Amino acid sequence: MAESIRHIVASVLAGGRIDRSTALLLASEADRQKIWEGADRIRHHFNGARFSLCSIINTRSGGCSEDCRFCAQSARHRSNIEEYAIVDPDRALAVAAEMDRNGVHRLSLVTSGRSASSSLLDRLAEIYREMARTTLLKLCGSMGLLTRDKALRLREMGVIRYHCNLEASSRYFPRVCTTHTWEEKVETLKLAREAGLSLCSGGIIGMGETMADRIDLALELRELGVRSIPINILTPIPGTPLAGHKPLPVEEVLTTIALFRFINPEGIIRLAGGRQQLGAEQYRCFTAGANGAMVGNFLTTPGSSIEEDLRTFTAMGFSFA
Ligand code: SF4
Repeated sequence: MAESIRHIVASVLAGGRIDRSTALLLASEADRQKIWEGADRIRHHFNGARFSLCSIINTRSGGCSEDCRFCAQSARHRSNIEEYAIVDPDRALAVAAEMDRNGVHRLSLVTSGRSASSSLLDRLAEIYREMARTTLLKLCGSMGLLTRDKALRLREMGVIRYHCNLEASSRYFPRVCTTHTWEEKVETLKLAREAGLSLCSGGIIGMGETMADRIDLALELRELGVRSIPINILTPIPGTPLAGHKPLPVEEVLTTIALFRFINPEGIIRLAGGRQQLGAEQYRCFTAGANGAMVGNFLTTPGSSIEEDLRTFTAMGFSFA
C-alpha cells in the first residue's frame, strides 16, 4: 500500500480530488504513520507554515430548546454549567482584548439556542462594534440557524464569517440531534454565503460514528465549498446522553485529521474543542494535516493556556502572519 499512498498524495498535490473509496482505502492502511506524513505534505504544499488561530466567547449560555446529545447547554440534559442570557459586555471585550494581544486572528461570538432572537442580535451588535473599534480581530458569529434577514444583519454588523457545524455526516446526524435537521444546517450555511459571509463548519468526532461517517462528513463539507473546518473531539460531559463515551485513542484522532486533509487539501483543518483531553499528544495533530486551532476556553470546558499553545506551534515551525 505504501506505493499507492505515494500515488494518492502525488495526485492530491497535482490538484486531484480523492473519492470515497480512496478515502476508505486510506483509512484501512495499517501503517498509519504514512497516512499522517502524507497529510502533512499536503498541508505544507497548499498552506505552507501558515497557522490560523481563532477563539470564541460564549455570549449566551445554556437554556437551549434543542436536544444535541453531546451538548451541555441543552435544557433537556442535566449538566452543571453556568447559564446566562447574555454575557457581560465588559467580560466579552476583556477576552477579545486578550486574544488580540496574543495575535489571535479571529474571534466568534457564540450563542446557545436554535436561533438568536432579534433582541439578542441587537445586544451582540454593540459588542461587535466595540470589538471592531478596539481590536484587529476578524469577526465571526455562531448563532444557530439563520434566516436571510439575520444573515444580512450579521454582515451589516461587521461579521465576515459564519460558523455552523454540521456535527456529523447527513447519515449519522439524526443520531446526534432530533430537534433540527442536517438539511436546516446546510440551508443556514447557504444563507450565510449568499449574505457575503465566508463559511466555517466541521463536526465532532467520538460520538459513536464510524470512520466512514467521518469521511462522508469531510466529503459533504468539500461539496459545500467550506474551507475552514473545525474538528472537535467529544468531551463526554456528565449529565449529557454521551457522558459515558470512551475517549478516542489519539491515533484515531490523527488518522481522522489526516483524512480530512486528504479530502480538503487547501482548507484550514482546525483542532477545536476537546483537544485538551489529549494532553501534550494533541500537538501531534499538527503533524498529521491540521493547521489551525481554537485557543482559549471552549464553550463549556476550559482550554489550554494560549502561551503554551503559541510556544508549541512556533517551535513546530508554524507562523501566524
Ligand atoms: S449544540 Fe447548540 S443547538 Fe444543540 S443543544 Fe447545544 S446550544 Fe442547543
